Order: sequence, then C-alpha cells, then structure tokens
Amino acid sequence: MPDPAATRVYSIPMRTRFRGITVREGMLIEGPAGWGEFCPFTEYSDAESAAWLATAIEQATTGWPAPVRTRIPVNCTIAAIGPERAHDIAVRSGCQTAKVKVADHPTSLSDDLDRVEAVRHALGPNGKIRVDANAAWDVDTAVTNIRALAQAAGGLEYVEQPCRTIEELAQVRRRVDVPIAADESIRRAEDPLKVAVAEAADIAVIKCTPLGGVRRALQVAEACGLPCVVSSALETSIGLAAQVALAAALPELDFACGLGTLTLLAGDVVAEPLLPVDGYLTVREPGPPIEGFEASEERSEWWHDRLARVTRLLK
Ligand SMILES: [Mg+2]
Repeated sequence: MPDPAATRVYSIPMRTRFRGITVREGMLIEGPAGWGEFCPFTEYSDAESAAWLATAIEQATTGWPAPVRTRIPVNCTIAAIGPERAHDIAVRSGCQTAKVKVADHPTSLSDDLDRVEAVRHALGPNGKIRVDANAAWDVDTAVTNIRALAQAAGGLEYVEQPCRTIEELAQVRRRVDVPIAADESIRRAEDPLKVAVAEAADIAVIKCTPLGGVRRALQVAEACGLPCVVSSALETSIGLAAQVALAAALPELDFACGLGTLTLLAGDVVAEPLLPVDGYLTVREPGPPIEGFEASEERSEWWHDRLARVTRLLK
C-alpha cells in the first residue's frame, strides 16, 4: 500500500449493545482517491483483517465501478424487543421491509410470534418481513418455527441463517416454503460457492468490507449466482459508502439491503451521514471526516500497530 496521506482513528459508542460491543472503533485512511475505512472488529486476527484492509485501500486509491442505480432500498432492523416497540420502530422507519431478530433465547418463540405479528400490522399487507435467527436453531426446530413465524407474519420474505452449517441450511430449505438466506455462512470469499453448490440457500447476504472490496464482492456475487442482499459490517458513513457502492453496482438488486445501520452508532465521522430517508439511501460520496470522534492515544497506537502488521500481510 502506498503511504497514506493521513490517518485518523475513531471511537464511537454504540447506542445499544450490538454483537457484544459497546464501542465501535476503526481507522480512516486517506489516499489519492479519498478516505477509506479499515474497521475489522478488535478480536479479529491479522490474517482475517487483511481483506478488510484491501477494502479500505480500494476505497482510498481507486474508488469503485460505476453505479447502475441512484438509490438503494433498505430494511429497518427490529431487535428482540416487545411488540409495541417493534410496531413503533417499523412505522417510524418509513421502510417497506423489516428485518426482525428472532431466536434470541431458547424459549423465545411466543415472543417472536408476537413481534412479527406486530410488525405485519405496522407495515400492512404489502410490506415485507424477513427474520434472522443468527444460526440458533437445529433443523427440526427451524422447520417448526419457520412455519409458525410465516403464519403469524402473514408471509415471510425469507429467513436468514436459521441453522449454523451449510448442510443444515440445505435440509431446512428442502422442508419449508420460505426462502433461505445465508449470512454467517458467507464470510470468506470462497463460502458463497459452497452454499450454492450445496443448494443451501436462495439468497446470499454479502458484505464487501470483509470480502476485500467492492470489485471482489461483485465477483463473488456473480460466481455464486444467487440474488444478493448487501449488508453492513457496522461501518461509519465512510465504510458504509463502500457497501452502498456495491449495492449500487450489482447488476440486479431485488431485495432491500441491510445498510440502514448508522443509527446503531451514537455518532459518525462525516458532516452528512449516510442515513436512509423514507426507506432509501441515496448513492453519493460520504464527504471527508470531521472532528470529534478521535480515539484515545492508547487506542490510536493499537490501531496504528495493527495497520502496520496487516499491511505487511498484504505484501
Ligand atoms: Mg444476519
């Protein structure tokens, strides 16, 4: 990587705890094409972080392929909350599509049923509801629960990662009518092909940030041959712009994307955050970083060390 013109390390509290973290950290790197974001989660290894750095370098040095659309439909996300709040969030989001978290704990089914019913009420008959089980179920539980949820929701767009393994996804897919989306099963560039070969999913959830960039993610999307949903890795607006660029460049985009995630952070690094309006994100440049999100000196040093180590892996 060419020496960056400038770097900034950010530390932004999460509004609510998400995937076990309360503060999001990352690094902004300036190159000839602008700013890129390097933000592997802190527990990730250097080897795993290399693809994240490739994404930042693509953004900072070359930019992205031309968009084929000017706005991206996004879903609202409904956490494992009570039905009244779920209804409220769905209505206020302005989105036509809601992603509802289910299977939060082993006896959550009746709460899950109430939640999807409330969201259907909020969105009306034309709204779309997808559920995400984050790999919590075994095959039989998945089949039973998906059928019950589809009935309570008055139809489901798809169920995301009902079980952990690709083999289990394939078994569930043969037994239910609801389409299956693979998310956790697609983390590395070679994974989507395995999912497609095993006939384990109807839809692929892809994120360019851990896959090594927009171009790489476009190749992965083409190779797996499944319709794609682009989803964020909890980036700030600068990294989110890469995901938006991917969603904007995909030849086909039949589903709302999981890119309305900036509201999970209590702040952002740019003056005009990439926030959805009426369920759509406009495809645009995020603009340069502003002041006010800087990490402590100690954390900043940690990120600079990490950048140096991961840069050596790319050479
Ligand atoms: Mg998911």
